[in-house]
Amino acid sequence: ADRIDAIKSTLRVVPDFPKPGILFLDITTLLLDPKAFKDTIDLFVERYKQKNISVVAEPEQRINLFAYKEKLCASASTNGGSIEARGFMFGPAIALAIGAKFVPLRKPKKLPGEVISEKYVLEYGTDCLEMHVGAVEPGERALVVDDLVATGGTLCAAMNLLERAGAVVVECACVIEVPDLKGRERLRLQGKPLYVLVE
Ligand code: 5GP
Repeated sequence: ADRIDAIKSTLRVVPDFPKPGILFLDITTLLLDPKAFKDTIDLFVERYKQKNISVVAEPEQRINLFAYKEKLCASASTNGGSIEARGFMFGPAIALAIGAKFVPLRKPKKLPGEVISEKYVLEYGTDCLEMHVGAVEPGERALVVDDLVATGGTLCAAMNLLERAGAVVVECACVIEVPDLKGRERLRLQGKPLYVLVE
């Protein structure tokens, strides 16, 4: 509980980013605090190290404006919905520590090899994630990691990719949950547990 409180205190809320009216939860301030960053990874590692997980997958993190429709100002544009990617911040460290492989799930046309794609519907459009064919074997046990769950659309798309490749998704794990946006409910409908550190 002390570790979670300390992690929470490093997070920053940035109003009006990336557009007026949006309240953005910034996790880069967590990454600046080596103790909080390590505690974040440790908490996930403690939970998952004895679970026979051989795959850690993380969607390319980006800013999904449509997750924030309730908070969007009337002038927000509806063409697109995401801006530049911010990379993979938690998955690789967790994968190394539990002895699993790391599988990046990326936006379209970023992966060089043969891919499978999963489109997903957002309130005002669609988005897509891709995974390399052959990255996971049928029957492998997988963990999906992301920085933040809002509507749960990203996590569902990630799970669908892994399951189409024959993997068994054990759980989704996020640093932050925005409870208003009902991601947990959406995952429950898919029969998937969600574990988060901070609400
Ligand atoms: P969802 O698909 O659950 O609606 O949105 C979650 C995705 O959008 C995650 O990949 C997450 O990185 C990104 N995201 C949306 N809003 C925020 C935010 O306020 N802060 C951060 N750090 N990521 C966000």
